[in-house]
Amino acid sequence: MACGPQACGTVPETGRSQFNVLSAGAERQLGAEAYAETLSGARTLSTGPEFDRVQRVGRRIAEASGRRYPKSVAGFEWQFAVIDTPEVNAWMLPGGKSAVNTGLLKLATSDDELAIVMGHEAAHAIARHGAERISRGMAAEIVFGVASASGEIDPVLVDATATAYGAMGETAFSRSEESEADHIGLMIAADAGYDPRASLSFWKKMAANGANAPFEFLSTHPSDETRVKRLEQLLPKAEAVYAQAKNRTP
Ligand SMILES: [Zn+2]
Repeated sequence: MACGPQACGTVPETGRSQFNVLSAGAERQLGAEAYAETLSGARTLSTGPEFDRVQRVGRRIAEASGRRYPKSVAGFEWQFAVIDTPEVNAWMLPGGKSAVNTGLLKLATSDDELAIVMGHEAAHAIARHGAERISRGMAAEIVFGVASASGEIDPVLVDATATAYGAMGETAFSRSEESEADHIGLMIAADAGYDPRASLSFWKKMAANGANAPFEFLSTHPSDETRVKRLEQLLPKAEAVYAQAKNRTP
């Protein structure tokens, strides 16, 4: 869809123009609402080594995102929930509200690999892929605002947000969105001081795990060969970012 002057955004890192009628603030509001709803039905952990691990990596992903894309993450209130379920999944809603399943933690054995996934999820939120999807589908409704006259947030939009960012456990993103999230996520992980080469081992592992779960990574992602080829092309840039991160004084 062509983007007019009222509804034109630019994705950081890739520079792609996007059509987006939803303001970042409105999207964060929807994200917060969708987060509360999604987690109310989930069994979450609030202590223990798995919880600590996700907070540790998440904090560094948040800091790196702030360094690289300060405008995109302005107003984010990062949260990293851990959901106790074997389903291999992770997601992040607008505003930095995210969750990682314990099933995914078992697959991502190193913090480097976990950072690749969490960077990828942050990238979907930073690139505002869900807002873009909602804009394409519901432009007419949204221009009138997220909240109704009575101040109630539109529940249809809350559900659309949760679905668009994969928090409902279904695959939501297109192949090109997955590639863009790989690209941005790789740079975030590297900037956070995690080895970008872990992306190759991790996505291979994911592909091998493939058939058994409705998780957001698999069914629309580029073919494994294409994905690895693209990641390899991005590695020199990511490794330069990684080297710089390692030299950064703490
Ligand atoms: Zn994705």
